[in-house]
Amino acid sequence: MTEQGNNLPTFKLVLVGDYGVGKSTFVHRHCFGEFEPRSINADGVDVSTLQLDTSLGPVRFNIWDTSGQERDGDLSDGYYANAQCAILMFDVTSRDTYENVDKWYRDLTRVNENIPIVLVANKVDSPDREVRTRQVTFHRQKNLQYVEISAKLNYNIEKPYLMLLSKLLPSPIVTLVREPATLPPEIPTTQEPIAVQK
Ligand code: GDP
Repeated sequence: MTEQGNNLPTFKLVLVGDYGVGKSTFVHRHCFGEFEPRSINADGVDVSTLQLDTSLGPVRFNIWDTSGQERDGDLSDGYYANAQCAILMFDVTSRDTYENVDKWYRDLTRVNENIPIVLVANKVDSPDREVRTRQVTFHRQKNLQYVEISAKLNYNIEKPYLMLLSKLLPSPIVTLVREPATLPPEIPTTQEPIAVQK
């Protein structure tokens, strides 16, 4: 079920997770073309459009970010309505944000029962990691895809989109044929590579 905008398959993607986990940083790592500006819709939600050139053709995500409204409690049903996929993010430097994943999942699936969801662990560049890979089990209980990223380092930042596309497009094998433009990493590349922490 895709909307067609200029004949491109277009998917509404909602970003959820606690305040401060890095949702806005993640979504703004990609440079959006001047014809696809971010816009704030009537509910004060920040919507960005990301076009990706994939092995199955160009596709577009309309990415809904809360603009901090999650601080005040629940998001409105209008935010979730007609979402076709979701990214549920937590911050590996804050155990509380992982513990709240269940609440976000329930909110999301109350409105959209069966959409593809990727559980994303952000800030894996940080030395202050509190949630280790082996402690993350939620995705197994709910049969979600899972990926660890660093929005600041541009590490794995395309993976969540590709994981969702593998469920949304007719073939599960989908790759990027052209890397989308990104902002430069915020941490100098002289830094030690990320240690995989099991
Ligand atoms: P949001 O409230 O979920 O949209 O979170 P923000 O995108 O505003 O990020 C909250 C804070 O986390 C900011 O200070 C970001 O610079 C920081 N942050 C975001 N992504 C990363 C990351 O990958 N690594 C680190 N170390 N900090 C990050």
